[in-house]
Amino acid sequence: MQNKVYDLVIVGAGPAGCAAAIQSLREGLTVCLLEYMTFPRFRPGETLSPGTIEAINNLTGVNLLENSNAILHTGFDHIMNGTKHYHSYGGSEHNWDGIHIERSVLDSILLKTVIGIEPSIVKQTKALKLIQQEERISILTSEETIKATYIIDASGANSFVRRQLGITNLIFSKPLPIKYRYVENLRQQPNTSFLIDNTGWVWQATVSKSLEVECRLFFPNSTHSPSAPIERKVKDGEYGANGTWRIAEQLAGESYFLVGDSACMIDPACSHGILRAILSGTSAATAVAKCLRDSTNKEQTKYAYCDWLTGWFFDDCFQLNNVYASVSHTNDPIGFLSRINHYYPTLRAWI
Ligand SMILES: Cc1cc2nc3c(=O)[nH]c(=O)nc-3n(C[C@H](O)[C@H](O)[C@H](O)COP(=O)(O)OP(=O)(O)OC[C@H]3O[C@@H](n4cnc5c(N)ncnc54)[C@H](O)[C@@H]3O)c2cc1C
Repeated sequence: MQNKVYDLVIVGAGPAGCAAAIQSLREGLTVCLLEYMTFPRFRPGETLSPGTIEAINNLTGVNLLENSNAILHTGFDHIMNGTKHYHSYGGSEHNWDGIHIERSVLDSILLKTVIGIEPSIVKQTKALKLIQQEERISILTSEETIKATYIIDASGANSFVRRQLGITNLIFSKPLPIKYRYVENLRQQPNTSFLIDNTGWVWQATVSKSLEVECRLFFPNSTHSPSAPIERKVKDGEYGANGTWRIAEQLAGESYFLVGDSACMIDPACSHGILRAILSGTSAATAVAKCLRDSTNKEQTKYAYCDWLTGWFFDDCFQLNNVYASVSHTNDPIGFLSRINHYYPTLRAWI
């Protein structure tokens, strides 16, 4: 068993890593998925935008709404500089819904799907070191060395593979600190509201029948953010996160693909975190299968993956920057446009 060389090793069993594992197992690859935390484990990110539910149902074969405590929502209250309107997904037809779901529930459904596909290998261990040799990579854990032809980095903000390979992160905003906490849910109906002004934003959303999440982002030089529309009793402490926009300089290379938050991150107002994790995991796994089947087209396959994910990242950045500019007194409130100009010679091919 020590000499086994997997087609693919995946680091991290969040949505991106599980999506990659499910897709690559279905492609017939030999796969080893590494996750150091014990499931179910806590993670933020409970509101899934429209389209995510369909992507997960198709990938897992599990109907999320029928098999979990997920709650549908048809849109959200949007309060901009004091003016409120209801932003309905899919317009008045209400046929394009988002969901609220606890991450521990979602991630466990995804991991169970991986485990249910023969012959999946899931190891509870931490990837500690990566060694790249010709046409092969080795991952050192405290117990063993795992060998594979390809590696997918799905380790989230940890960015294990990116850091081990010395790939630079390109930063596309000034620092954007986030604070989030869980508060008691006293409402009868699911709530989703987004309140934004020139100091930052606050997002309140249902997580479950008893819990809501309250997440705030502070714009540069801001010491406060808008007040939450409704004050609630806090369940436990407050957590911090980094909402700074960034993308790895090289999303795929000789034997690796970066997916999910390890590849790129935009603050949660973008609302595509889980969707991007699922779709990039699936696409990278398909790309690995293609590269293994037909090595003559490896470069085109990697280029297509990088082109697609980079394009999506910048589309989201430009859209969200427009929203931020519309509430502030400058056209470059978070320093996105100045960074685009700085990196333009490097990025010309992608934007
Ligand atoms: C406050 C906040 C609120 C958010 N709200 C939303 C939201 O409402 N909707 C939305 O779509 N997105 C939201 N997001 C974004 C979303 O949480 C992420 O985009 C998503 O979790 C990315 O999934 P992932 O699989 O890439 O990474 P993760 O979910 O972070 O999973 C990475 C996994 O890798 C494992 N790992 C790391 N290093 C190693 C190692 N060396 N060896 C083995 N395992 C390792 C970790 O234990 C973890 O399980 C939010 C983010 C924040 C910070």
